[in-house]
Amino acid sequence: MTRGPISQQRSDDGRYWNPDIETASADKLRDVQEERLRHIVEHAYENSRFYRRKFDEAGLKPEDVRTIEDLPKLPVTTKEELRDAYPFGLACSGPENVVRIHMSSGTTGNPVVNPYTRADIDQWASVMARCYAAAGVGARDVIQITASFGLFTGGFGFHYGAERIGATVIPAGAGRTSLQLQVMRDLGATVLTGISTYPLRILEVAREEQFDLDSLRLRVAILGAEMWSDDLRRLIERELRVATFDIVGMTETGGPGLGIDCEAREGIHVWEDHYFCEVVDPETGRPRPDGEEGELVVSTLTREGLPLIRYRTRDLTRVLSRARCPCGRTHLRVDRLRGRTDDMVIFRGVNFYPQQVESLILKQPGVGHEYQIVLDRAPGGSDRLTLLIEAREGFVETALPRLRSDLKQFLNLSPELTVLKEGELLRPPGKSVRVVDRR
Ligand SMILES: [Zn+2]
Repeated sequence: MTRGPISQQRSDDGRYWNPDIETASADKLRDVQEERLRHIVEHAYENSRFYRRKFDEAGLKPEDVRTIEDLPKLPVTTKEELRDAYPFGLACSGPENVVRIHMSSGTTGNPVVNPYTRADIDQWASVMARCYAAAGVGARDVIQITASFGLFTGGFGFHYGAERIGATVIPAGAGRTSLQLQVMRDLGATVLTGISTYPLRILEVAREEQFDLDSLRLRVAILGAEMWSDDLRRLIERELRVATFDIVGMTETGGPGLGIDCEAREGIHVWEDHYFCEVVDPETGRPRPDGEEGELVVSTLTREGLPLIRYRTRDLTRVLSRARCPCGRTHLRVDRLRGRTDDMVIFRGVNFYPQQVESLILKQPGVGHEYQIVLDRAPGGSDRLTLLIEAREGFVETALPRLRSDLKQFLNLSPELTVLKEGELLRPPGKSVRVVDRR
């Protein structure tokens, strides 16, 4: 059989999708980045009144940005600016070139709209193909996509990448978990893709229906779109018997595919020839040294419809390494996302992230994985923090004092604990609601 153009892009041993660039030297990567940076800055300036105004206000012309060192001269772009620009204020391509629109859910304020050109869709497929290769997924795999296909970027992103690598796609979409399980078994799915907490729903339904998980052929799960703690990751791997890979990306950057962790589990590779990343102090905007936590700032180097220049993502991470990874890739590694600047809960002067509470909950035997943090005012007018958890089979009363003591010791929190029956907390079809703030 002759090899088609698709398989020619893959390295012979199947480990990389674009071996030359994935393992390129730092110098080569930098050359590629700088050439693309010059191009994208010019594109944004020429085609968007928003960017032109911002550059003009900063006294800059596109030709002032030649190298990576010049990038910090440029003002940052914020989520508010993207929202205020609803729907097409930041678009750099007109309707004649746009072939698709995706949009964030917009739970607060206007949603963020991302118009894709044909080249953007191709770019997306290409970075997603790399992500699959990094997770050891290839043409022989059967990929069940459980993210929704719609305005949300998840479903389509997983789909394009899977087609590009020549895998078999089961485009199941979100929900209908009983059917998902049946299809997964009968069609022999080897890879599950979706949002990070969906495997929990799968495990719950499997338990309710006494579905035999040994009848599945799953070996890999590629998950993202939500923060998920290392403890949750271990739970999914143990109970669903899969290796998990953490994929990152957001509507603003063009969906999943910004990066993924590899089999080395030593950080998330960000595809640096497409995305330039900085980590800055969320308060001052100044760069943080490698190893120190801060806010991820992304410049897209190849997106046409909505190029982002120094976009403040609100995601918190740190640079783990710029050295070659044991997997052979040279692209920057950042830590798994630990939270978002706007997810941070402040309660009576104590700061914490929901994922920290999640980790402590998952350590208690018999306490379910679903939880909700409710903030409101007690009848006396003081702030009150209630943690809703679920008791599952094997729950013992001694779990509560232990959880209380852990919350106090590790997070300095003394919430009221409400124990519900398993299944009582709402399971929304999309992302989980971990914090309800009624203050
Ligand atoms: Zn690696």
